[in-house]
Amino acid sequence: MRLYLINPSNPLVTITKVKESRWNRYRVWKPLSLMVIAGLTPPEWEITIIDENFRAPDYEAMPRPDLVGITVFTAQANRAYEIAAHFRNLGVPVVMGGIHATMCLDEAMKHADSVVTGEAEHIWSQVLKDAQHGSLKRWYDGGLAEINAVPLARHDLLAAGYAFGAIQTTRGCPLNCSFCSVTAFNGARYRQRPIPDVVLEFQSIHEKRVLVVDDNLIGTRPEHIARAKDLFCAMAQANLRKEWVAQSTINFADDEELLTLAAKAGCRGVFIGFESPTPEGLLDLGKKFSLLKNRDFRASVRRIQRHNILVVGSFIIGFDIDKPGVGKRIAEVASQYGVDNLNVLFLTPLPGTRLWEQMTSAGHIVLDTFPEDWKYYTLTFPVARYKHLSLGGIIEEMISCDRNFYAMPRILHRVWNSLWQSRKPLITLVGNLSYRRNIRLNYKAYADFKYYWENRHN
Ligand code: SF4
Repeated sequence: MRLYLINPSNPLVTITKVKESRWNRYRVWKPLSLMVIAGLTPPEWEITIIDENFRAPDYEAMPRPDLVGITVFTAQANRAYEIAAHFRNLGVPVVMGGIHATMCLDEAMKHADSVVTGEAEHIWSQVLKDAQHGSLKRWYDGGLAEINAVPLARHDLLAAGYAFGAIQTTRGCPLNCSFCSVTAFNGARYRQRPIPDVVLEFQSIHEKRVLVVDDNLIGTRPEHIARAKDLFCAMAQANLRKEWVAQSTINFADDEELLTLAAKAGCRGVFIGFESPTPEGLLDLGKKFSLLKNRDFRASVRRIQRHNILVVGSFIIGFDIDKPGVGKRIAEVASQYGVDNLNVLFLTPLPGTRLWEQMTSAGHIVLDTFPEDWKYYTLTFPVARYKHLSLGGIIEEMISCDRNFYAMPRILHRVWNSLWQSRKPLITLVGNLSYRRNIRLNYKAYADFKYYWENRHN
């Protein structure tokens, strides 16, 4: 039995970025969920993982599969439906899963023979058995998996050539930020994989650099942090020789022992969501506010950097509090915090979030012709109506933010700081230049987007 597991092209990665800047290969992340599904698949299935973000496949030239599984993030939905139509026209059954298929079940069911919602660990073997017997159900609900049931991902099934390997060590997040669908999809209970499994899986990754895809690497409670320390100890003892980056909340900075162990285990960078430069904006977030209030962000960032760990600060433009001038304010605040790189996103109502509910009921979602408009739900386009910022205004704020933060004198200042602090000035320089180059690429993407917005009903 032949199984294709497909990661549809993501418009953010493939269309506007990668082809035009070679640094953007660092933005192509491996489709880890498909490697996990492959790990759950029994040996009688011959598995091929197809990542459209890595290389465009020629489906016509490939042997006919017996089953196709497609994972779907919101921005990939259109392409996922095209791929599904191609295989269904050939009479090949298609199963869809992932966050978007879970949050938009009715829509996904129109395009697939079967949809798996939630996590697949408990349900996938049943899906395969039913497919073998020609009796696929329209819908399987996997719910939340027992974390011990997560298999080792099949890292052997993807070709070499990615900048980063990928691994997941935890699932779930209790913070339930208004704009984030992680709590809705993976649950509020923070679940940590068994440490021996994580170490073993790390050892099976070919790449030297690894992206830890956890949405919240260390968690929030003392027992979460204690387990994170145990994990980092085990990784250091296993002498993995990997360098990894991860996403964390700012409480990563609060524990010297944790930072020391993370650095010993190979941690070289963290993405931290600061989200808003104003206390009022932070209040919009939900529980995460409690981690952020009254904090000396500059001192927190510096504590992390002292361990030779780069800090990428992430902010969002589009909160109700955001007025003209917010872009420049974010650039200035991020510079004050001393982050090495800045990544700013438009507030985007993704299905499954509280923000989606709020914006839908207020009638603030403008790009709402679905599934077509999903392609703009990459967090890099303003798809909604924002309280104090027009379409042109919010795009100007984003451009102003990028231009300010990535102005050459500011880049050189950061590189000098990095040198002065005996960190890694070359990485800081390359990272900053890569972001700076994308500013020019974004102009065209914004112009195309405005044209689409203005002509969407013609
Ligand atoms: S802390 Fe991060 S992962 Fe958790 S809900 Fe907020 S944005 Fe999502």
